[in-house]
Amino acid sequence: MAHSNHGFSCLVVAAGSGTRFGGEMAKQYAPLLGKSVLRHSLDLLLAFFPKDKIRVAIDPGHAAHYAAATEGLGLLPPLLGGRTRQETVRNALTAFAGEDGHILIHDAARPCLSASMLSRLCDAAASGHAAIVPVLPVTDTARRLLSDGSTKTEDRTGLFLMQTPQAFHLPALHRLHEKHADKNATDDACLFELDSMSLHFIAGERDNIKITLPEDLATAESILSGRHGDIRTGQGYDVHRLVPAPADGSRKLFICGVEIPHGFVLEGHSDADVGLHALTDALLGAAGDGDIGQHFSPQDPRWKNADSAKFLRHAADIVMAQGGIISHVDITLVCEAPKISPHRDTMRARVAEILQLPPSRVSIKATTTEGLGFTGRREGIAAQAVATIRLPFTADLPHNEKKGTIV
Ligand code: MG
Repeated sequence: MAHSNHGFSCLVVAAGSGTRFGGEMAKQYAPLLGKSVLRHSLDLLLAFFPKDKIRVAIDPGHAAHYAAATEGLGLLPPLLGGRTRQETVRNALTAFAGEDGHILIHDAARPCLSASMLSRLCDAAASGHAAIVPVLPVTDTARRLLSDGSTKTEDRTGLFLMQTPQAFHLPALHRLHEKHADKNATDDACLFELDSMSLHFIAGERDNIKITLPEDLATAESILSGRHGDIRTGQGYDVHRLVPAPADGSRKLFICGVEIPHGFVLEGHSDADVGLHALTDALLGAAGDGDIGQHFSPQDPRWKNADSAKFLRHAADIVMAQGGIISHVDITLVCEAPKISPHRDTMRARVAEILQLPPSRVSIKATTTEGLGFTGRREGIAAQAVATIRLPFTADLPHNEKKGTIV
């Protein structure tokens, strides 16, 4: 997590019924590029903030959709929405009672928020602003329909549109929600205005559209897929030595995150999971961010017997912090024994779980070397991995420089 994100909590408001959207499914759960609209926002927020700092307010009637949309994320239970947006946020804020710092409030209907926007909000909060709102100037000519059916051009000078995520000093927002519980504010920034407190504006983004009508989904799809046009691959390779399993069971054999009963274990500083190490290096390679030893030194006592899932998740977080997505990963394990095929599906499911990907985007293969070489002599296991990621072409811009800041 970047240092400037310290003290942030997040509330994603997903309690709307989406009456203008139509259809059987509320818009926040509609499918968009292989996941729900809501999940797009959550995946990006999870790259910035710890999962226990992110809460989602939902309509109690949407619990099943919510569970499907957030499967595998390990989020805290959802908060239940109220009759209005204001009531939903006011109720939800009680879950953050006593916390200091800022809270970021985001509408689930805006799945195209960007890493750049989050960075700029965090920076503005770190500068001490109590209420930060992204805005866009109105550039189209606006006309108002009058009661007699005629229309007249509105002066758009000084008019702008407000977007989410918005960030607020948490105790101040809590106090304002309690004080103005009887008002019907369409967003939280309005409450600051009611108390004549100033708002700090940052530039919104044209791409940060709000899904309102069904055709907005096609626009969002085009925005999101265009955003990840920079396709990169990385490869990783790792070897660990096989040694007899200690009689006291103090060390176990882990391959691709799965414990395998075997008379031998892999030797190493961490749990020596050769498959996850190769894949971690493949992801770091694709992201252009060094190698596993650079991020997790084998001399560091913190990683003694460490679960290598942590290393892999770190590499995935680096990809996500660059605004990227993982398209596909492919691991080849090279060994005579143990037999991999009985464990292949479990390994695939475990790697998919760590990376928060559908298992269809994870491949696990195995081969032998026909008795040749060190793997053939059963002295060790080798693993190769290839990762394909999709980054925004803007990933190299300075505002996305977050390398080495995630923990
Ligand atoms: Mg290794």
